[in-house]
Amino acid sequence: PREPYDPDNIFAKILRGEIPCNKVYEDDHALAFHDIAPQAPVHVLVIPKGEYVSWDDFSARAPEGEIAGFIRAVGHVARELDLVDPGYRLLANIGAHGGQEVPHLHVHLFGGKPLGRMIS
Ligand code: 5GP
Repeated sequence: PREPYDPDNIFAKILRGEIPCNKVYEDDHALAFHDIAPQAPVHVLVIPKGEYVSWDDFSARAPEGEIAGFIRAVGHVARELDLVDPGYRLLANIGAHGGQEVPHLHVHLFGGKPLGRMIS
């Protein structure tokens, strides 16, 4: 792996309840909460509860139940926030070139307005 998991990263602290978050959804495998600095009218972060740095780390190591749970949680949040029909965007920043700041895997979910085309 690129780096060991840092148990003191900010999302680990949120998962342990040491830092508050504005929760949208939670189940056994995933937690979703509003981004503290929203880049769109809806900007939610969905994270697996397990200690995974990145998508490659998660997909390589996580049990299938955790992978399924995480993916289902993302879909659940989109439905719960009524984003399915107007549409929305999912984004994962991975590693240095991906611009990842928090080293716990997360998917950004953006919505609430037409987001335009964005491929980078
Ligand atoms: P990254 O660049 O790693 O993909 O995105 C990290 C995201 O986490 C950023 O959009 C940032 O605003 C958000 N963030 C950083 N610290 C906190 C926090 O303490 N609480 C919440 N809710 N979001 C945070």
